[in-house]
Amino acid sequence: MLSVREAQERILTRFQPLEAQTVPLVQAVGRVLARAVRAAIDLPPFDNSSVDGFALRSDDVRHSSQAQPVSLRVVDDIAAGSAPTIAVGSGEAARIMTGAPLPRGADAVVMVEDTDFDDRHAGTPAPEIVQVYHPVPVGAYVRPRAEDLREGDQVLPAARRLRPQDLGLLAMLGAAWVEVHRQPRVAILSSGDELIPVEAAMAPGKVRDANSYTLAMLAEEAGAEVLPLGIAPDEPGAIQALLDQAVDAQADLIVSSAGVSVGALDYVRQVIETHGSLDFWRVNMRPGRPLAFGEFRGRPFFGLPGNPVSAFIGFEVFVRPALAHLSGLPGKDPGRRLRVRLGESLESDGRESYLRAVVRMEEGEFVAHLTGHQGSGNLLSLVLANALLIVPSGVKSLPASAEVDAWLID
Ligand code: AMP
Ligand code: MG
Repeated sequence: MLSVREAQERILTRFQPLEAQTVPLVQAVGRVLARAVRAAIDLPPFDNSSVDGFALRSDDVRHSSQAQPVSLRVVDDIAAGSAPTIAVGSGEAARIMTGAPLPRGADAVVMVEDTDFDDRHAGTPAPEIVQVYHPVPVGAYVRPRAEDLREGDQVLPAARRLRPQDLGLLAMLGAAWVEVHRQPRVAILSSGDELIPVEAAMAPGKVRDANSYTLAMLAEEAGAEVLPLGIAPDEPGAIQALLDQAVDAQADLIVSSAGVSVGALDYVRQVIETHGSLDFWRVNMRPGRPLAFGEFRGRPFFGLPGNPVSAFIGFEVFVRPALAHLSGLPGKDPGRRLRVRLGESLESDGRESYLRAVVRMEEGEFVAHLTGHQGSGNLLSLVLANALLIVPSGVKSLPASAEVDAWLID
């Protein structure tokens, strides 16, 4: 039997990052940079004021105080967005707004609060004279050009997933288009004669299809474009017809659930073997021991277990890293792991186990409590969980207050 790590490693050898494409910035969030981005300009692009106040020469107000303020002649009024042309000379100042360029001659800014000019209503004209109540060091309230970054600096490395704040910085740098890897297209199907779609009325022997929803949304969250194929009955021709749709739509990956174990009606396996190839692995994990991986007419194929919790965990452990690879992310994503303390004892069967739990802060440390029945068909305990506890292989029981790895799934 393969360990989880061995199975993950074998899978990852089959995936390469998808080709690069250029997309407008608004479409780039969640996408992975295909090449590093360098700054095309300095940021800030010019010396500017960080407050509303008066630009002046530090030397002029060296001896100012509340009792003996220094009076300066106001020679300009500089709004944000304007380009000042008047230089500030000795004994002079210019009213300046936050973000406005520092005028020539000035080397510091005094806050409006530290002057006699306290009329702060919008639209108030600048005074002719301003009194400054205390000394202002050179550079005060000035954000110098290139303080944040310099033209030519690398700002984002390749293989980086873009976040909203990354896009903000790219926008400031004028990067209207960015080069990212193409999103993986993932076809998703469920299989089983018992499955009915969510809209259908309940009928004897039927269950509603959970996996189509969970797997599609996991794939979307992981940055994929999803092709929902729906439900295939337990019949080879129908299964093949759906898989053909995935091929016609040029899916980069096909993910199916159920129909891959050893039941008499588990035809998914047979169809894949006829039109492609299948490695059927028993992975030393719980839940989700049977994992089918292979290709259907040249398209990589995952056959996850049918039980909804097993399908979820199979996706997280095997499909998500494959999607990360296709998307251009380096290595395998270890997920968000945390060492936690067990709030109760637990049993395992010696396989690497993923147990549903709630992790919360209790008296200054993270403590985990199981969320209920751990059967792989019991979706509620997964819904109540915010973490999967990973019990290593070979461990059959852990006492309360033992430490264990938790994989945060929220
Ligand atoms: P199988 O892998 O086909 O043997 O299915 C294992 C169990 O998972 C059975 O109880 C199925 O009814 C259930 N199952 C399979 N697919 C789904 C699905 N898409 N949604 C909910 N339950 C499912
Ligand atoms: Mg079935």
